[in-house]
Amino acid sequence: MTYQVTLIPGDGIGPEVVEAARRCVEATGVKIDWEVQEAGAEVIEKYGTPLPEETLNSIRKNKVALKGPITTPIGSGFRSVNVAIRQQLDLYACLRPCKSYPGVKSKHENIDLVVVRENTEDLYAGIEFEIGKEETKKLIDLVKRETGKQIREDSAVSLKPNSIFASKRIVKFAFEYALKHRRKKVTAVTKANILKFTDGLFFAAAREVAKEYEGKVEYEERLIDNMCMQLVQKPELYDVLVLPNLYGDIISDLCAGLIGGLGIAPGANLGDGMAVFEAIHGSAPKYAGQNKVNPTAMILSAAMMLDYLGEKEAAERLEKAVASVIAEGKYVTYDLKPLREDPTAVGTSEMADAIIRVLKNF
Ligand code: NAD
Repeated sequence: MTYQVTLIPGDGIGPEVVEAARRCVEATGVKIDWEVQEAGAEVIEKYGTPLPEETLNSIRKNKVALKGPITTPIGSGFRSVNVAIRQQLDLYACLRPCKSYPGVKSKHENIDLVVVRENTEDLYAGIEFEIGKEETKKLIDLVKRETGKQIREDSAVSLKPNSIFASKRIVKFAFEYALKHRRKKVTAVTKANILKFTDGLFFAAAREVAKEYEGKVEYEERLIDNMCMQLVQKPELYDVLVLPNLYGDIISDLCAGLIGGLGIAPGANLGDGMAVFEAIHGSAPKYAGQNKVNPTAMILSAAMMLDYLGEKEAAERLEKAVASVIAEGKYVTYDLKPLREDPTAVGTSEMADAIIRVLKNF
């Protein structure tokens, strides 16, 4: 069988790591017909938008995509293409497994955490009021009228919507994932002691969903600040974490740090019947075009994609090949060497070559 998959190289280091992942997937023997699609700042001139409808339609049609990172200019220009893809395709669950691999230097060992992040609302909804704008003044007046609270006039304001629908949907996803992958516990994380209505609603929704899984999967709650400290001190106590969008984003990077860095942390954005696989890391523009960065995160994202496609054996083989190259420590990129300036570090494509050599011997 040949699978149709949309391939978005992205920008910055995207094309290099995506090419490494594509070659590794092909080396597993799984047949894929890649439909290459563009997105990002460079295509605005050609399409009038950084996210062409053609690209979205390709994902809608193929239902599966492997995507490289795309740069989001800070403070101005277009909003994030990455966020737009998730929102427009309703890829509501962001799944980020964080697992220790022997050979990666890290302060912790044997970490096996999964972060499930809500992807469609919260402070990422993109509902923002710019400083000085007429609508911002109206909002400030409304807040004063309705609550008696004064927001300073020289303020910008961002809204944080959290719905029962999206909160229950993501918590259900986390429990179903836990059941399917034989995990013992789901921890919901918010700042509900302060954000009583929005984050309070998330916890209330989570408790209701958790009742359906009583006796099968354990449920507990943590506050985000305490969670950060606990993850640094005793990450082994946690299993599956489920969080609203912004906390999920931040905790994902923290967990990537626990296992040795962004270079090895994969991810997926999943909706009902549709999925886009991408590394947690961004486009790291300062390394673009240097054949230097670690392709592991993107290759492990591709392994998650193979698993999603039902190619479990190929997915496991690919993950084992990655683990074996990392454990050997010879053909790895600079970030996986004991010293960053180690002259024996190999480039992105050479690390992929080593993984492919191992794969062929399995
Ligand atoms: P980044 O993840 O691109 O890079 C931060 C640092 O992490 C790099 O300087 C590098 O030291 C390290 N790093 C990242 N990937 C690595 C790899 N594969 N191997 C080795 N080291 C690696 O984060 P940033 O600098 O905050 O973001 C750069 C751009 O990427 C921004 O425009 C941001 O919006 C965008 N971004 C995109 C996505 C996405 O496409 N999903 C995700 C995050 C950030």
